[in-house]
Amino acid sequence: MALLDIVYRQSEIQNRKSSIVIRPRRLRTTPALRAMVRETELNARDLIYPLFVRHGTGRNEIRSMPGIYQLSVEEAVREAESVATLEIPAVILFGIPAEKDPIGLENFSYDGIVQQSVRAIKQEFPELVVVTDVCLCEYTDHGHCGVLNTGEHYQPQLPEGYVLNDATLEILSRVAVSHAECGADIIAPSGMMDGMVASIRTALDSNGYENLPILSYSVKYASSLYGPFREAAQGVPKFGDRKSHQMDPGNVREALREVATDIEEGADMLMVKPALHYLDVIYRVRESFPELPLGAYNVSGEYAMLKAAAQNGWIDEAKAVLETLTSIKRAGADLIITYHAKEAAEWLRQ
Ligand SMILES: [Zn+2]
Repeated sequence: MALLDIVYRQSEIQNRKSSIVIRPRRLRTTPALRAMVRETELNARDLIYPLFVRHGTGRNEIRSMPGIYQLSVEEAVREAESVATLEIPAVILFGIPAEKDPIGLENFSYDGIVQQSVRAIKQEFPELVVVTDVCLCEYTDHGHCGVLNTGEHYQPQLPEGYVLNDATLEILSRVAVSHAECGADIIAPSGMMDGMVASIRTALDSNGYENLPILSYSVKYASSLYGPFREAAQGVPKFGDRKSHQMDPGNVREALREVATDIEEGADMLMVKPALHYLDVIYRVRESFPELPLGAYNVSGEYAMLKAAAQNGWIDEAKAVLETLTSIKRAGADLIITYHAKEAAEWLRQ
């Protein structure tokens, strides 16, 4: 081959190389191609729908959460039916008691509103998974998540009004057992007390509920996004805040420590709350502890923001909600507790 020919061929190869354009768009050409290569797909099976239950009859809409209601037991059963019809596998119950007191007596009473609701829902829809939230804040007259450092419990080395950890654990355990006795399928302690999983596990086991799983709110931040929930559950603290037990929003290494502790104590499933502003935390927990199912709580403030924008016509609600929930799943959550669950399940069918 003549020298010139060789030079010519080499430059042709060079030209061809430089003309190769990487074209990821090829796989986005048609809906069918896009569906084939979709990495994360949201499904109604990923969702858990929260229900707020209260005494009395009927239902009333929560002002800051359009489309979400406080429900009587009868109405809760009706909601459970529509949840089951939409093939959403689970509900999580939050109770609004008839009366509040310093420790929240209704929280572990046989006729408590959550206890009544669990029995009624399980009787009608035994297949539906009923998760119960276990905390004190909706039941105490001061609105805090535990027994306060005051009166007969006062410990001078701790601040006045501090949530006493170990005294609170005893009550949480009684609440968990009373939910178990009503037929709850999963116990979900949310109070961020140290040792809460171990304490509840021990109480459940010693009462014959060794098969009942615990979904721990392992990583719960002291977030500004719980406002609408507190209106819904009537659980606004009368004074102070929850920063002595819920986590600082700046921390993520601490989140991994909380999760490791919960796993050691016997948690079966983990949760990060809130979801949207903490997608990196969900991702880190997923990467560090891939062996346990991970939930994320798409909280009331996240719901209210999308609802408000949608009601103003500023966003397409269905698209924004499905994108939001997909992002939470993509970050690593297996399960998403969300007030959008029913609507999302309907949109996913279309
Ligand atoms: Zn609480």
